[in-house]
Amino acid sequence: MLHKPHQILRSVFGYEDFRLEQERAISTVLRGEDSFVLMPTGGGKSLCYQVPALCLDGLTLVVSPLIALMKDQVDALRLNGVEAAYLNSTLDEGDQRMLANRLRQGEIRILYVAPERLVTERFLNFLATLNPVLFAIDEAHCISQWGHDFRPEYRELSRLKERFPNVPLIALTATADEQTRRDIVAQLAIPQKNIFVSSFNRANIRYFVEPKHDTYEKIVAHVRQRKGESGIIYTLSRASAESLADRLKADGFSALPYHAGLERAVRTRHQDLFLRDEVQIVCATIAFGMGIDKSNVRYVIHHDLPKNIESYYQETGRAGRDGLMSDAILLYSNADVMKLQKMLVIEDNPEQTRILIQKLQEMRKYAESRQCRRKYLLKYFGENFSPDEQSCGSCDVCLKPAQEQEFFDATLHAQKFFSAMIRTGERFGAGYVIEVLRGNTAKVRLEHLNLKTFGVGADTSAAEWRRIANELCNEGWCERDNGEYPILKLNEKSKAVLYDGEKVMLPKAEERKRSSRREREIAATPKFAARDTTSAIPHNEQLFERLRVVRRSIAESEGVPPFMVLSDATLMQLATYLPVSVQEIRYIAGFGEVKTERYGEKFAREIQDFTVEHQLPSQMNSLPQKRERSRESASSASSTSSSVQRVNTDVSKGLNATAFETLRLLKDGNTPETIASMRDLARSTIFEHLASCVAAGKIPLNDIVTEEKEEAIIDALREQEWREGQGLKLVKEALGEGFEYGEIRAVIAAYPR
Ligand code: ADP
Ligand code: ZN
Repeated sequence: MLHKPHQILRSVFGYEDFRLEQERAISTVLRGEDSFVLMPTGGGKSLCYQVPALCLDGLTLVVSPLIALMKDQVDALRLNGVEAAYLNSTLDEGDQRMLANRLRQGEIRILYVAPERLVTERFLNFLATLNPVLFAIDEAHCISQWGHDFRPEYRELSRLKERFPNVPLIALTATADEQTRRDIVAQLAIPQKNIFVSSFNRANIRYFVEPKHDTYEKIVAHVRQRKGESGIIYTLSRASAESLADRLKADGFSALPYHAGLERAVRTRHQDLFLRDEVQIVCATIAFGMGIDKSNVRYVIHHDLPKNIESYYQETGRAGRDGLMSDAILLYSNADVMKLQKMLVIEDNPEQTRILIQKLQEMRKYAESRQCRRKYLLKYFGENFSPDEQSCGSCDVCLKPAQEQEFFDATLHAQKFFSAMIRTGERFGAGYVIEVLRGNTAKVRLEHLNLKTFGVGADTSAAEWRRIANELCNEGWCERDNGEYPILKLNEKSKAVLYDGEKVMLPKAEERKRSSRREREIAATPKFAARDTTSAIPHNEQLFERLRVVRRSIAESEGVPPFMVLSDATLMQLATYLPVSVQEIRYIAGFGEVKTERYGEKFAREIQDFTVEHQLPSQMNSLPQKRERSRESASSASSTSSSVQRVNTDVSKGLNATAFETLRLLKDGNTPETIASMRDLARSTIFEHLASCVAAGKIPLNDIVTEEKEEAIIDALREQEWREGQGLKLVKEALGEGFEYGEIRAVIAAYPR
């Protein structure tokens, strides 16, 4: 192993800690074992293979079916200074030959490949000459027929294992139900102990369900709140994607449509404008999956009901990949259920139809439920969200104060409704029962015209009856059969109402006033758009905007979308902690070495100007990772040896000039011994320099400390129960001859925790 994972995380990606199961997945790969990683979108799957790829000495292959995303991944890696490339059908002969050459030279560390390329005999033979060290199978659910996106080419991937049995493989996906999961694991023969499943809770997404009336006003209210931020609005039809985008545009918002009916060039242009933050809102059809990884999508609105919870979860998951607070809003009406119900019927395939309708019913239940949305979603995916807590504090149900909901005594309504059900033989859905209650002679069958319940509910509107019927079903007062045409059945509770006079309390209908559009919009606002701030940390908005401008200009010159240069989360940290020098910027999450070097100066200058203009003091001391790192470097510099004082290098400040000179000489191929004599410095001093180079992530530990020595040093540190902040004298004595303080310090620096 060349590098330690933490070192790579810091120096290349600029992040402080691993998330979720990243660390365990990475160690498994580095032990040479196969693994399976299930993590929600935005969880950080890429680092699970990118970090080990850079720890190992050789080529990592990433199999991905999403050609559109390959270039993005490669661009993003290159911005962090990682040599990466992709091989797919978009490359011409010349490109491919050039790529083959670079691969032969060992210039490329990470190669993205489309599956159909990979498994050709020719490619496998070529691969055998290249020293592959890791296979990553992205979107691994494509291997399973049970998944929603089965790809036959993926089946062939098991050949990789036959051909390269000793190369570890890591399979990753964000979407896999139990059956798909088992299938992936079985087909790739992944050991049970190496399955890493993270929680699917997207803590930074707030879930809201709103009744679908005054729809446009609700959307506008939200978009206004999120002014200048990116959002996706999903619609069912192309026409409504178009008309919604037009209407928003006419009202002065920055919106474009995106659907399969647009010409390819138009679609690409619209997508690019969105990716580049030049258009804020995209109105897209649900049918068209957008091949995008834009990390700063702040909200996803479902203008129409999705067909199932899987799609809903995936679509809402496109919000907040950068970890900042984001909203998922569903506009719900029963009419959408009816519409979809018709659309989902597959001729001559009742079995498939049944499954689709069943899934739609689950979606309906979610929307109509008055349970915590998060809990409901997670339960659907087989996860028990904080079982002791009823409230997640960030969905419409949990945010609504209990007293806000008023109830009324609906016992009489329920009795009428249930007896109409009985008298029509429990063979009908709510719609028909309501016609009977309302006394609709035109719709009711002849044999039901003389029922005692015929017309007994005429004093209540059909809409109100529908609402009551829904509440009765959702609250379990009766049952809904999940067939193609949902039939209502009585249960024990309905019988108690009918025969034992049990009381039914139901929520009152929401008031709906006719009013001007602007008034309705304002009235719509507090429901889901009221918020503290747009994000987790109280940053300076004005500075954030200025930093966005800087980012945009860098993105333009690099030819990549802005979120790829630096995430919104990183800009927000800048606008909170106000680093004014490149040295300080190193502490900000998201600034790896390459980005610090390339862009640090520009941002530091902008922040410097801003803080001077507004006389703002630095907030760097409240930055958690700064405190963390200073503590470490203080400990690595503390020692009894006097020579240490001279090279008291704060790792965060990069390298001082003399350490840098040592680094240069080392890179030129000189040994520490020769450098010492060339520079007329003590050998121990040279090792101090090298320790600071390791700490700064400039060189891999094992360049200066052999693995045997590394082990011995770790043992000695453990044995002496060495703690950060203590001197190293005892450790050195325990090690005996042949060890430098610098070597010990280098090992400590390479193990940040
Ligand atoms: P996924 O592929 O699982 O949807 P990504 O790999 O694209 O997620 O990661 C989502 C975002 O989270 C990216 O911006 C990535 O840089 C960031 N990220 C991943 N791991 C970490 C980490 N350990 N610390 C901070 N940010 C991280
Ligand atoms: Zn909740």
